[in-house]
Amino acid sequence: MAENEIILGYDVGGTKLGIGLASSDGKILGRDRIENKDTYPEDILPQLVEKARSLVADAGLKMSDVKGFGISAPGPADIANGVLTAPTNNVHWRNVPIQSYLENELQIKGCFENDANCAALAEWFFGAGRGCHDFVYLTMSTGIGGGIVTNDTLVRGTGFYGGEVGHVVIEANNGRLCGCGHHGCYEAYCGGRSVALYIQKLLKDQPDHPIVQFAGGKVENIDMVVLEKAVRANDKLALEIWEEIALRNAQAFGMLMNTFNPKRLILGTFGWAIGELYTEPIKKYLPRFAWPETLAQCEIVSSELRRDMGYYAGAAAAMYFLLGKRA
Ligand SMILES: [Zn+2]
Repeated sequence: MAENEIILGYDVGGTKLGIGLASSDGKILGRDRIENKDTYPEDILPQLVEKARSLVADAGLKMSDVKGFGISAPGPADIANGVLTAPTNNVHWRNVPIQSYLENELQIKGCFENDANCAALAEWFFGAGRGCHDFVYLTMSTGIGGGIVTNDTLVRGTGFYGGEVGHVVIEANNGRLCGCGHHGCYEAYCGGRSVALYIQKLLKDQPDHPIVQFAGGKVENIDMVVLEKAVRANDKLALEIWEEIALRNAQAFGMLMNTFNPKRLILGTFGWAIGELYTEPIKKYLPRFAWPETLAQCEIVSSELRRDMGYYAGAAAAMYFLLGKRA
């Protein structure tokens, strides 16, 4: 493999679409983004081509210098064929064959992978997973997504559902309803959306509760940010919910530690946006769920790419799938 091959990456987000031009030694050579709120694919797809051409030209390169592109895609999607089937944040995008469209227009090879796996690859090549052969990345935002790299290989599974850590059932009986339709998923206890809905339901008839006050008096505005404020103010109910979140996270982390024996567990949004207030209580519970050996061997760290993930995720997929790059 030649040194410093050039790749393009696309990150299809619910409100924004990121584009990054990268070199395989881990540098971003150019980046751009497109607003993607309530858009139609026929408007956006040509812009993806134009932006890519501009980035390549601005870097003093030709499209033929680019080895390929990667697409980081939200679910649900047809991973094998590179089709966005029904992204939940954008109702106008249905069965959009984005990979073949871009391959035809740009005349370079593409690849396609779910966003949590792409984020794990991005941390591997550009961020907190550098040099690591075994690690797990968790998105930890509105939902819980996972990307697992074991022995320098991304876990994809036989039908590309590998790494769906958020939907492992951790409560067998009377578990909370998850967005996926199952009861008791990890995400139903720790995903931001699920936590918000749970508290909103709990407090729907208590407009004077301090947590509702932190939400500006509107129950429907309760979210993780509001909960964090209430925890910092030592609200009793908020602290109880916080402990439950920590316990459930520890349960999932412990399962991952004993299953994959990772060297690092890299945490997305809540891990870095909330920080120690979020991670310390989890660490307190971890000895109940992980063996002392796997716990001692695993470092819990925050994402390094954070808000810039969108410029790296697709490029990282191209590095892994098209260039065969490893740690
Ligand atoms: Zn679920």
